[in-house]
Amino acid sequence: MEEEKKNNFLEDIIEADLAAGKFDTIITRFPPEPNGYLHLGHAKSLCINFGLALKYGGKTNLRYDDTNPTKEDVEYVDAIKEDIKWLGFQWAEERYASDYFDQLYEWAEQLIQRGLAYVDDQTLEEMRANRGTVETPGTDSPWRNRSVEENLRLFREMKAGKYPDGAKVLRAKIDMAHPNMMFRDPILYRIKHAHHHRTGDKWCIYPMYDYTHGQCDSIEHITHSICTLEFDIHRPLYDWFIETLGIYPSHQYEFARLNLTYTLMSKRKLLELVEKGIVSGWDDPRMPTLCGVRRRGYTPEALKMFCDRIGVSKRDQLMDIGLLEYCVRQDLNERSNRYMVVSDDPIKISITNWEPGRVEWFEAPLNPAAPDGPKRRVPFTGELLIDRADFMEDAPKKYFRLRPGGEVRLKYTYIVKCEDVVKDASGKVVELRCTYDPLTHPASGQWRSVKGTIHWVSTAFAKEIECRLYDRLFTLEDMSQVPEDKDYKDFLNPESLVVKTGWAEPALLDDPGTLAVQFERVGYFKKDPDSTPDRLVMNKTTQLKDSFKL
Ligand code: ATP
Ligand code: MG
Repeated sequence: MEEEKKNNFLEDIIEADLAAGKFDTIITRFPPEPNGYLHLGHAKSLCINFGLALKYGGKTNLRYDDTNPTKEDVEYVDAIKEDIKWLGFQWAEERYASDYFDQLYEWAEQLIQRGLAYVDDQTLEEMRANRGTVETPGTDSPWRNRSVEENLRLFREMKAGKYPDGAKVLRAKIDMAHPNMMFRDPILYRIKHAHHHRTGDKWCIYPMYDYTHGQCDSIEHITHSICTLEFDIHRPLYDWFIETLGIYPSHQYEFARLNLTYTLMSKRKLLELVEKGIVSGWDDPRMPTLCGVRRRGYTPEALKMFCDRIGVSKRDQLMDIGLLEYCVRQDLNERSNRYMVVSDDPIKISITNWEPGRVEWFEAPLNPAAPDGPKRRVPFTGELLIDRADFMEDAPKKYFRLRPGGEVRLKYTYIVKCEDVVKDASGKVVELRCTYDPLTHPASGQWRSVKGTIHWVSTAFAKEIECRLYDRLFTLEDMSQVPEDKDYKDFLNPESLVVKTGWAEPALLDDPGTLAVQFERVGYFKKDPDSTPDRLVMNKTTQLKDSFKL
């Protein structure tokens, strides 16, 4: 019997709100700042926001938090949409904080008229110094008691472009001794003579996050504005603006952000990795970005399974990246096509009792979960390649792969016996002379089993491919614990990318490449866009097995 899933705290809140008749329907939003690509942390936020709307028959808006023109770009706007669609979510409305700049400005004038905002000429340093500390109250700005008329005139002049960047700001006039530092006359507007990717040169003053977010939620009638824990100290201010302006009462709720072992998810640092050329781009398969993990072969299904398993908590935790990889394997194990690929530096097998030139084609299922489903054709010939790791000269008793005088089944085909080992001058094994047992053809009806089955490819038919083997990008388990005297870049893993050659069965080249495939007995690999008609490039998604246990 399926265990009924317990509600998370957000579901409890929503159900109580709906039961109390507070709303007919819920509206959530996903509010990315278009200053970078989405990462796995955003996937969690997306799953929560869209997941709740789906569960309760509501809707989710995509709203770009585009109040910082110097850091933002349309490249990011487009990429974010692509990533959300890839995850399989559809937003109700595409909005931008900048759509509301006129309204926000009007509200700012309203606050000035009501004596609740003033223009401050202090420098940022002065403001910081006068803010006080948690223990000590701040000091009022010398400009705090300007008249409404003067404030209005100055604010309009700020808007008209009369002053350079940093010359003035508009602040709310609340309380410089407030125990919550957020209330010590927060900045509402700053001057920034910068071109905006949507509003062009219309504005040279831009609203601050705290002054923008809640009002945008309110305009869109967002019922549940869900964000990460670090915003909990902003919530009272979020409420203050909404109450003071007397507008639609959206509410903010906080959940723990996703942190993953061996992974960094700050956009600023990810941007640095890209700009310094430490990775090949935002979509480098080692990046925790959605475009990176997509290129690596992770699936939306796996990411959703992962988000579902980690749940929604109110306490920050470091999640094991092994759990994410486990979810990827779970999904790919069910759905991926199988192929045999022999690694770099293989050993040649000659079948001495095979008729020279003979080719026998075997049929193998593309996916063992569907033995009667689509098949691939695998050619068997007198000369084959196997992984060097599948042969051992002085093998221990429990070694079930090939050894001198031993037998093994070559997957989908015959049992072969190693009769003779050929070495080069340095003593390296270069060839195994084997015989095959024709009676062991899988369809012969004379099944005989051996302990080991190994994968192989026919030399004549093998295709040389490039395999990009990835490991974690960082060596430190908890990347929030980088010591003071070190930089996060000191923990880059020098072996996060190793390129090897592989020898693939020919059917791999006909695979559509849309989903990662399984290299049998090795791992999952996804076709990379760097592939050309002459050379297939495969990204290792994850290994087949891991020590990770649920
Ligand atoms: P970063 O710190 O990486 O720049 P951010 O919070 O500034 O991230 P935004 O574009 O502002 O990025 O985020 C959009 C939404 O995604 C926000 O609601 C934010 O709280 C959420 N989000 C960002 N990072 C995470 C994370 N690691 N886990 C869960 N949610 C996240
Ligand atoms: Mg942000």
